[in-house]
Amino acid sequence: MLQSTLKSSVTFEGIGIHTGNYCRISVSPAEEDAGIVFLKGKDKIEATFNNVSATMMCTKLSNVNGISITTIEHLSATLYGLGITNALITIENNEIPVLDGSALPFVKAFLSSGTMKQKKKFRVLRVLKPVKIQEGVKWTSLSPADSLTINVECDFSARGLEADHYSFDFSNDDFINEISPARTFGFLADAEFLKENHLALGASLDNTIVFDEKGCSINKDGLRFPNEPIRHKILDIIGDLSLSQCDLRTRFDSFCPSHKMNNTILRALFEKNDNYEILE
Ligand SMILES: [Zn+2]
Repeated sequence: MLQSTLKSSVTFEGIGIHTGNYCRISVSPAEEDAGIVFLKGKDKIEATFNNVSATMMCTKLSNVNGISITTIEHLSATLYGLGITNALITIENNEIPVLDGSALPFVKAFLSSGTMKQKKKFRVLRVLKPVKIQEGVKWTSLSPADSLTINVECDFSARGLEADHYSFDFSNDDFINEISPARTFGFLADAEFLKENHLALGASLDNTIVFDEKGCSINKDGLRFPNEPIRHKILDIIGDLSLSQCDLRTRFDSFCPSHKMNNTILRALFEKNDNYEILE
């Protein structure tokens, strides 16, 4: 596929779900081969897996000067999902606004501002050998495939939700319709713990689906999909995998995926040259 960027700048503002800070960002067109880059003052932070510095409940990027930006995954998933490979994201604070907790507001704004194909091709990454990581009972693997497919199984049974699985064959249209509207979710039972530990300071029913002990959503308008949580997991995975800065040709499988494992599997993949090939 060809590299692509936005036709014009788009600004987003609102609360950051983890810091609770009011945040404002502008996403602007960038030239070929620029990649996805965050800019705070004069400090650049490239959106690559090597810059991931924390994965507790979200994905945080930091540069060598310690300048960081957190909760990048819904925005980075949107850029990948729409095939936008070059963009400059100016940030005024330290978190990406969570908006409604999904990627849909980003999708709508980018589609209405328009995207623009560029002349050069985007790098294609083919996985040549299976790579697997394990964390207790949880695991994630990448294996050779002709296109990006994501197969996920989650067991939320201890939280009142049924075990669930989802298989997603990546395409731009299916990302827009099936994945981008799925919102962040959490559990009422965790609210006290989060509050005591100063986590999820900006979370509210406006940006998070909250499930009670019986697995029922307490949000007034209910769910956008019966399986919205696992669709949101796919959204997070796409955002984290996009930090390869390549068009991915692989099959991704995971039992109980997490931001941490999404990053660890990319590091494991890139550790050995014979695990993959990059076609320029
Ligand atoms: Zn998320």
